[in-house]
Amino acid sequence: MSTFTAPKGTYDLIPPTSAAFLAVRDALAAPLRAAGYGYVETPGFEDVELFARGVGESTDIVTKEMYTLTTKGGSELALRPEGTASVLRAALEANLHKAGNLPVKLWYSGSYYRYERPQKGRYRHFSQVGAEAIGTEDPALDAELILLADQAYRSLGLTGFRILLNSLGDRECRPAYRAALQDFLRGLDLDEETRRRIEINPLRVLDDKRAEVQAQLAGAPLLRDHLCEACRAYHAEVRELLTAQGVAFEDDPRLVRGLDYYTRTTFEFVHDGLGAQSAVGGGGRYDGLSEMIGGPALPSVGWALGVDRTVLALEAEGITLDVPPVTSVYAVPLGEEARKVLFAVVADLRRAGIATDFAYGGRGVKSAMKSAHRSGAWFALVAGGRDLADGVVQLKNMESGEQEPVALDAVVDKLRSRLG
Ligand code: ATP
Ligand code: MG
Repeated sequence: MSTFTAPKGTYDLIPPTSAAFLAVRDALAAPLRAAGYGYVETPGFEDVELFARGVGESTDIVTKEMYTLTTKGGSELALRPEGTASVLRAALEANLHKAGNLPVKLWYSGSYYRYERPQKGRYRHFSQVGAEAIGTEDPALDAELILLADQAYRSLGLTGFRILLNSLGDRECRPAYRAALQDFLRGLDLDEETRRRIEINPLRVLDDKRAEVQAQLAGAPLLRDHLCEACRAYHAEVRELLTAQGVAFEDDPRLVRGLDYYTRTTFEFVHDGLGAQSAVGGGGRYDGLSEMIGGPALPSVGWALGVDRTVLALEAEGITLDVPPVTSVYAVPLGEEARKVLFAVVADLRRAGIATDFAYGGRGVKSAMKSAHRSGAWFALVAGGRDLADGVVQLKNMESGEQEPVALDAVVDKLRSRLG
């Protein structure tokens, strides 16, 4: 160990488990890539005001969880706590919405930062795969995204998750509901901070995790009883499309989620094997966000799936991903001359697209063969002075132990056909 350890609330991804993490990230993104979503990558930090406006001044993310910094040039920046505001900012900046091809469908993958109380499944640096479909109001688009997330989790073999679904209404029906909810909440016995929240963003109070607060919320008015006709019809169609696809979901009239910008469809994927940090992913429609950050009206919908928690969900279900070994061939030189010859063979194999590794450090055959086994390679190439004098290397099948001499200039072709 060095003098240093990873910062509190963070962890390192290291082999061999890092391979599973990469595989999870790829699996979460695969359905998006096959559904017309293009890759977008934005900076790890943004103007702090983008998140203040885009995520919401009254959210925990903005008030408590953001890593903010002032640059030497005096700019106020924040490490990104989530992806949606940045991706929408980037799409607007590049005028993607003006190219006459709506919705703009984008996917992303990367690191996010929140100053939270670290717990299992809750870190200060974590990884998400996300998707945004910008500029179109269509219940089929909301349904598509929920389907793609469902497909992503299932492709990993996960079954122990549930989909929670709700509608948050729109600017037509939400104000009246908000007022009704405020009336109800003002009559409760709540602390100072929560009372302030009633005035700024009362829906967030429904999201309060404390049991003593939840107990008082039993009779709270529900948005589903206050939806306008357009929101009601929209939500009914989302539900219908999901049902027609055989996707099971649960109506959760209390589901509001932590961000201010959601409208209409809102959903969360929860996994029952994860304890308190049960949300593996979530998202929804955010029709007002573009205008909140100074853009035109662009109704949009998106989600973000947590890679770290998905890995924990796999563990909870006892699923080990079948991640094939990266190395196909491992070269073991015996002696100085063989080292140079095999080093060239390794380079040739790699140029031919065959994943190959090499026993560096002039080690003895025993220790080198141990590394060959540990690499997961199908074949070892072993050569000493006598082999080279005969113009051959020994090709050893790591599983059967069988060994045969192969002419040096035939090694690449031979391995190509053996590895199929
Ligand atoms: P939670 O209610 O657990 O705090 P959230 O609503 O803040 O989650 P989102 O902002 O919707 O989460 O982020 C999408 C997903 O990212 C979550 O469902 C979760 O899987 C993951 N995630 C969010 N925060 C963290 C974190 N601090 N550590 C690990 N994963 C996280
Ligand atoms: Mg959170």
